[in-house]
Amino acid sequence: MAIRIEASRSLTLDAARHVERGDLGAYAAMAKVFASETAIHCAMEAMRVLGGYGFTIDFPVERYYRDAPLMAIGEGTNEILQLLVADNLLRELGHA
Ligand SMILES: Cc1cc2nc3c(=O)[nH]c(=O)nc-3n(C[C@H](O)[C@H](O)[C@H](O)COP(=O)(O)OP(=O)(O)OC[C@H]3O[C@@H](n4cnc5c(N)ncnc54)[C@H](O)[C@@H]3O)c2cc1C
Repeated sequence: MAIRIEASRSLTLDAARHVERGDLGAYAAMAKVFASETAIHCAMEAMRVLGGYGFTIDFPVERYYRDAPLMAIGEGTNEILQLLVADNLLRELGHA
């Protein structure tokens, strides 16, 4: 979980640097897809770490578990953003 969160942070900062230079590319889409899939993964793992307690409303994990999937839908679904990344790569390679 820590590795994926740190990788998400790095991708996000890298995307911000690209945007700051005026290079829109597909970096923001890559960061959003990876970070949101990380949120879903970590919410699931956190629930499993806590076992039965993770499932109850006594801890915030069950809320994260319900909320995290929205991250893959809002601000452009991850499927569409992956199409954008692929399209960008194909254009860079001269195939689109
Ligand atoms: C709570 C909430 C908050 C949102 N916030 C924002 C926001 O802040 N800003 C914003 O811009 N949008 C936002 N959206 C819109 C969101 O990003 C999606 O654009 C929208 O939800 C997609 O429409 P749909 O839910 O009807 O799914 P559909 O368009 O019916 O898609 C259903 C599924 O099919 C997939 N899909 C569709 N077309 C393709 C394709 N060609 N190839 C592969 N897979 C495909 C989709 O990824 C999705 O998983 C929000 C949506 C919700 C529910």
